[in-house]
Amino acid sequence: TSSDASSLLEYGRNVTNGLGRITEGIITSGKGSYVEYADGRKMLDFTTGIGVTGLGHCHPKVSKAAADQCMNIVHAQCSIAFHEPYLKLIKKLLPIMPDPSLDSFFFWNSGSESVEAALKLARTVTGRQNIICMQGAYHGRTFGAMAVTRSKTIYSKGFAPLMPGVFTIPFPFWHQLGQTPDTPESALVSQCLYQLDLLLTQQTAPSDTAAIIVEPVLGEGGYVPAPAAFLEGLRAVCDKHGILLIADEVQSGFSRTGKFFAIEYSGVRPDIMIIAKGLANGFPLSGVITRKELTNKLTPGSMGGTYAGNAVACAAACAVVDAMHEENILENVNARSTELFKALHAIKAEHPKHILDVRGQGLMVAVEFASSASPGAEHDAVAAQVGSAMASRVAKKCIERGMLILTTSVYEVVRFIPPLNISAADLAKGTEIFREAVKEVIR
Ligand code: PMP
Repeated sequence: TSSDASSLLEYGRNVTNGLGRITEGIITSGKGSYVEYADGRKMLDFTTGIGVTGLGHCHPKVSKAAADQCMNIVHAQCSIAFHEPYLKLIKKLLPIMPDPSLDSFFFWNSGSESVEAALKLARTVTGRQNIICMQGAYHGRTFGAMAVTRSKTIYSKGFAPLMPGVFTIPFPFWHQLGQTPDTPESALVSQCLYQLDLLLTQQTAPSDTAAIIVEPVLGEGGYVPAPAAFLEGLRAVCDKHGILLIADEVQSGFSRTGKFFAIEYSGVRPDIMIIAKGLANGFPLSGVITRKELTNKLTPGSMGGTYAGNAVACAAACAVVDAMHEENILENVNARSTELFKALHAIKAEHPKHILDVRGQGLMVAVEFASSASPGAEHDAVAAQVGSAMASRVAKKCIERGMLILTTSVYEVVRFIPPLNISAADLAKGTEIFREAVKEVIR
């Protein structure tokens, strides 16, 4: 019962201080677009557990698939034998891959673990060491993933030495090039590609460079879709030099941006794609997808993990893919996205001095507030998910008004990642809560 749950709160003191938290209390249940707390609060969830529960909490089909699998076999270890859900999942994923060349799968538990596997794969199949990543990138918290993460120092401060051989270029995000939101995309793209060119002549020779890793929508770094010309430019450089292009679709994948994968907006073919989060709607599952031609070079037994590709998680993911087709999720994402952008642009028009930018793709959308503080000035002192002053104050007011919402990046960014199947009414309710919160903070 709820009072039993509340009596557990005192053990919160025994939880590591290394975790940040945006709300007090204990979540006891979730259904669709809402979660309930032990103290009776019912909250509209615009965080989806950081972009995971795209089909809403406890989607009946997904929960049933997982429960049924629990009665068959929970742990059929992937180095012992194939199991049915693992192969069934591949069968369901093959037709939705952004490019038919992506035909070799290996599954893991978290996004970070799959990033590690992708980096190892890139190094071993190219015989090269260096990795190029993007300014503002977030790829995870394990050692390799942390080394290619460039969004906030809090993720690496005190944890060095990191994995060596990592180089960074800017991502076409106006902040990173000292520009303004209305700077033409083409100018930003050519700057970034020029920096890549310089990097490959001055710092890491192409013959030492294994891969370029990029988020098709820069996520934790500020919710910025990569212009198609940028991804095309990266592809061309990779083709020229035999460098592998890794697309990290951990946050942008699985219908989040209005296509199955965000890279589809550019038509660019990645050599390696990383998936996680929305894939299993809350069960821990991630994957690395590449070409057989590349994975054929791996020595059997050189990759693996005790829990990698768990049967219950794979069964849940099969149900996720089915539900995405059956429930026309992409259609809903695109319809709700149009409404969300319209509402946020209207709020921006109400506060032209305070709201700098509304951006994103599908239901991965950000509002950036104007700030006089230097980026990240306040950042080191606060928990990782709480941004600087204005954005976190607005998020806090939203939470007080009954909606969970997150900030992101070292800038003043509030991010909207509601369920992909959210109703028009709940979306409107959320944007209204946001509007009131903004009004209250700006007043
Ligand atoms: N890549 C991207 C693009 C992400 O957004 C995240 C998580 N926010 C990760 C990797 C790491 O995933 P995980 O937290 O599951 O390790």
